[in-house]
Amino acid sequence: MSGFPQWQGLPYFPISLYYHYLFGEKVWKVPVSTATTCPNRDGIRGMTVCNFCDEWGSAAYPQHREEHLSSQIALNKEHLRKRYNAHKFLVYFQAYTNTFSKTQTLEKQIDIALKNKDVVGVVIGTRPDCISDAVFELWNRTLKKTFVSVELGVQSFDEDQLIWMHRGHTAKLAIKSIYRIREACPDLDLGIHLMFGLPGETREQIKNFSLLTNQLPINNVKLHNLHVLKNTPLELEYNAGLFRPISKEEYADRVIDFLVYLNPEISVHRLTAVASRHDELVAPAWAGNKMASYQYVLDRFKERMAYQGQEFQGHLVSDVARSLSSLQNLNTANAL
Ligand code: SF4
Repeated sequence: MSGFPQWQGLPYFPISLYYHYLFGEKVWKVPVSTATTCPNRDGIRGMTVCNFCDEWGSAAYPQHREEHLSSQIALNKEHLRKRYNAHKFLVYFQAYTNTFSKTQTLEKQIDIALKNKDVVGVVIGTRPDCISDAVFELWNRTLKKTFVSVELGVQSFDEDQLIWMHRGHTAKLAIKSIYRIREACPDLDLGIHLMFGLPGETREQIKNFSLLTNQLPINNVKLHNLHVLKNTPLELEYNAGLFRPISKEEYADRVIDFLVYLNPEISVHRLTAVASRHDELVAPAWAGNKMASYQYVLDRFKERMAYQGQEFQGHLVSDVARSLSSLQNLNTANAL
């Protein structure tokens, strides 16, 4: 297998390419931190902090979180501009739960983001239990002006794993929320986050998660490896010998096991996660090197002669998917 021309040589459908299809050029996500809490941190319904979550609520650039939103956008855009020569951006409301406070607050923040001419849309991170009719109305209003994507922290479809993580919501609720969102906001771009490396995880389970994901009305997935960060409940479990982080080899196989069954028209944000701050990572050590772990997964794809959708049995429906599908068939034929 020499790579897939339709996916820029990659064995999976990267979100960067999906954005390219949508916007006609490369688009970069600008992460910002505006929310300051979430239901777990506020102890709603007796909930406690997710066992893996650091004090920054999964922010990408926590060092800027005290800055005004406009400054965060300017600083982070500048960083991306210098590093990648980036010109178009999506403002990503990433940290904590962005639909937990008043809807008007988020609306004002979206308006600030859209004042930037080079911002072509917004991405909003939230949880399955923090949606409401008011939030749907806001998303639909915003969709009349720009591209809106929502990333839902689902993490697992296994109820026991969700309890172990202290998520405070069930898999059943996550599935119900996905359908509810899609029904209320048909034009919304919708993605889910899933985490691999959880206790009791099996390859069969990952395959079933992928088959279930194919049934859901979503556009993209983001995959994380569960890592242990400083000052988290998981660090205590790790230090007590109650949690063993997944190895690089096992993790790469989990990602591939998931993607070979995944519908090739569902785009993929990333294959591995990194700590917000390098000095926060406790274990596993391999998760500290983003590029090396990403490359390892790609190499493993090659070894297994695998690619996204290799075992997908469903129907492809979109124009993008149809063209991807025909190219994929061509590529598979060439590889034989
Ligand atoms: S992962 Fe999200 S919901 Fe869980 S404690 Fe962190 S910010 Fe809150």
